[in-house]
Formats: sequence, structure tokens, C-alpha cells
Amino acid sequence: PNRVQDRREYDEAGAEARIEARIEAGRRGEFDNTADTDPDLPGNRAWGRGIASRMVDSRLGAELVASSRIGDEAQLDAAVERGVAAADGWQALGTDERARILFRAGERLEARRAELLEVMGSECGKTLDQGDPEVSEAIDFANYYAMLGQLLDRVDGAEFRRQKLIAVIPPWNFPVAIPAGGVLSALAAGSSVIIKPAASSARSGAVMVEALWEAGVPRDVLQLVQFDERELGARLVGDRRVDRLILTGAYETAVKFREFRSDLPILAETSGKNAVIVTPNADLDLAAKDVALSAFGHAGQKCSAASLVILVGSVATSKRFRGQLLDAVRSLKVGTPEHLETQMGTVINAPDGKLLRGLTTLGPGEEWLIEPAPVESDSPLARDAQGRSKLWSPGVRDGVRRGSEYHLTEYFGPILGIMTAETLDEAIDMVNEIDYGLTSGLHSLDRDELALWLRRVEAGNLYVNRGITGAIVRRQSFGGWKKSAIGAGTKAGGPNYLHGLGDWTDAPVAG
Ligand code: GLU
Repeated sequence: PNRVQDRREYDEAGAEARIEARIEAGRRGEFDNTADTDPDLPGNRAWGRGIASRMVDSRLGAELVASSRIGDEAQLDAAVERGVAAADGWQALGTDERARILFRAGERLEARRAELLEVMGSECGKTLDQGDPEVSEAIDFANYYAMLGQLLDRVDGAEFRRQKLIAVIPPWNFPVAIPAGGVLSALAAGSSVIIKPAASSARSGAVMVEALWEAGVPRDVLQLVQFDERELGARLVGDRRVDRLILTGAYETAVKFREFRSDLPILAETSGKNAVIVTPNADLDLAAKDVALSAFGHAGQKCSAASLVILVGSVATSKRFRGQLLDAVRSLKVGTPEHLETQMGTVINAPDGKLLRGLTTLGPGEEWLIEPAPVESDSPLARDAQGRSKLWSPGVRDGVRRGSEYHLTEYFGPILGIMTAETLDEAIDMVNEIDYGLTSGLHSLDRDELALWLRRVEAGNLYVNRGITGAIVRRQSFGGWKKSAIGAGTKAGGPNYLHGLGDWTDAPVAG
């Protein structure tokens, strides 16, 4: 599934010039993501017309590179109307024709891989290392849901109530793969989609959508919009013609959307505070590497990231594992995303609020083993419009106490905390005390420990002797438990993500 790009194809020396070109294009207003996409097609022509004064900006570091017009109530209503009207035609195409278009969508995403990588890098600090598998994941979603969608006609006796219109509201941290998963599964099931990319990764979302349009998805079937969520979020999901919302974001955001309309079917993947347990029976070299990469990949800005490592028994009391872990963390190349060797890039916004507190203050009994700090860099991607640094080095804090703020709070940044437990049971208790339950990891080569952990641990995605990020479409469908999900049980990259959309009754599960 993950086809790592041939690194020789990436022209690193040319990156600076391409960044300059993007900044220039942004200044010329070339990337207006909504209104200018294709003036002849009603799905996008009307959107944002006459309200050019209200835009959302997408920034490449400190520089504006793209802007999207913000729609108003009437435009949003019109988009809903168009989407509903287009659904019958999309359904009437039949599963094979839709699948052909979606397979082609995978090809178009592949064709635009380099562009997607650079746009993601500039908008949200995705390193090439992280962006490359993300594009592959989007392609996997296209192929997988194209294939699964074809089965909808072929399951004898299966009845499902098709949903006409699905709203997809993805986050900025996976600005291509997460929207691709929601959009492609909905399209494969025969629904129309309205997608509102996150404002800070509007261009990444738009390139993904353009690739699907190029493949032949009609623009009324897949509409790209931008609006102010506080103003119009309630209007979109409150519209009873919207059959379902697919949302990824903070738990509080999902709760807010649910309050907008209590009977709205909502599939939300929300926050995480994820831990890896390392027992004395672990392969410690492997564990150190997996923990470091799970904690600091994409600067820790994944719902799936490792934010805690819980050391058990002799792993906790000896210095050995801590030493290996610190070596692994110190070896990570911190830098801006246009450079090939960068392993840990910038954070989306210069840290403030909770994240800044997490990077600069310790709780009772805690100490920094590696203290995080802003990193000097000449790249335009390293600073925000106010000149504040978005590039921070990783932080590792030891002595995190059970029940403390660090134990229980999601920070969404490059910080890892170490906790210790006498037994595996105690370590599992520490994991289960957390309100969230998205990913969880165990490093142990002992079968009994594995069995105990599997029986007791509360999380949606469990990983044994590997990192806890990077779920793979079809192989590891992705979704949470407890406060990490609303509408749990329907995981992205798995069959129910499609069937759920169609509300199957008694249908056998394929795949
Ligand atoms: N699917 C991603 C992973 O497995 C995480 C998505 C997220 O952070 O929301 O790492």
C-alpha cells in the first residue's frame, strides 16, 4: 500500500524556487480554491460570488499562498440543493461506472503526488517522509472503496437505504488522506458530497478534490466549499437534506456538531492521548525507535501519536531503555519540510495556549530529559506572519504522575511523557484511566502479556511491536473508542465505512 516515492525524483535544490513561485502565485490570487475552479459549472460558479471581501487564507509559513472565498447562507443552501439533485444521476450511473471513475481518481492522485506533497508541506509542515505515505493512503482509499462499491449491486437480497448527501469536514493534520477517505467512501456508496476542508489546509484539500473532478466525478456530486464553521456549521448539518456528517477533529468540535442536530448520523474521529507500554520482555531497540517515531512524526500532530510511554518493571528502574529512547529522539532530524532529510517538521501554528504550556512547563515531580525549544531556521516555512517560530525541537519529560494533567490531556505537539509502572496490569490501568481511546501500543514478545493487554486495554486501534501511527487502508481500519469517537465501530479504511453510509440491513460484510 505505501509506495515510498523514489527519492531521486524529488528535486530538493529546486524547492526554494518552487516555494517562491507559490508565494508569487498567492500574491496574484491565483489559487482561489472555490469560485475560480471552473466558471462553467454551476457547482462552483455560484460559490462565493460577490463576497470576495471575505476570504480564508492559506499560508506558506508567513506568506499567503492561497485563499478561498467564504460562502454565505444562501450559497450553502444552494450547494445542498445541487448536491441532493445530483445524487440520483450519480446513483443511476451504476456501481461499475462509479468504480471506474474512482479507480481513475486514484490515478489522478498519483499524477499529482509531487504537487500534493509540496502543498501539504507548505500549508501544514508535512515532511516528505510523512506526506508520501499520506498520498498513498488517499490512493488506497480510492482503490479500496472503488472495489467495495462495486459489490453493492452484487450482494443478493441486500437492501440499503442510500443517503443522498454526506457532509465531510476534515482536519488540517492529514489534509489529503482523511478527506479522501470520507469523500471516496461516500461517493462509492452513491452519495453526493459537500466537503469543507480545514481553513489552514484549504489548498491541499482543493488539490485532492481537483484530482477527483479530473477523474470524472461531477462537480455537483462533489462540491468544495469554504465557510466559517461558527457561523454556518449549524446551518449545514441542521439542514435535514444532509444525511450524514463525517468529521475529524477535536472531541469538543464533534460534540458541538452533535448539539446542532441531535438526530444527525455522525461519524467522528476525535481526540487521542495515546500510550505505548514497554515491558521487560520487549525488543528494546525496536521499542525505542517505534516510540520516538510515533511521538514525533509530523511533530506529534496526529490523533494517533504516542504522547506517553509507560515503562514496566525493570525497564522503568534501569537506565538502559531511557538512554536508547533519548538517543533515538536526539537522532531525529528537525527541520523545515522542503528538505529531504527532515524527520520532524514545524507545528501548524506557533505554539500558544495549551501547547505552549506543555512545551514550557512541568507538572509536580516531572523533569525534562530533553527540553523542547524553538529552532533557528532561514526557511520561510519556519515562522508565522508575526515572525514567531513554528519549528520546535522535541521534548521528553520524565516522572509523569498518575492522574496528573500531562497524563490525561491531549497536547497535539512534539512532547512525549514517561510514566512507570510495577506491573503490566498497573500500566494498563494507567492507559484506561484516560478519557480517550484511539490508538494504543504494546512492546512485548511474551504471549501471556499480549493476551492480558488485548483483553484489558481500551482503544480503537491496537498495535503490537510496531509504531502506533500510520494505519493502513483495509489492513488496519482506523477509528477510536471512548472520547476518541462518536459513532464508533465504523472505521475509516474498513468495509463498514462504506456500508454504514448506505445503512445496510442484514448485508454480509465484504472484504
Ligand atoms: N490515520 C492516521 C494514523 O493512523 C491518524 C489520523 C489522525 O491523526 O487523525 O496515524
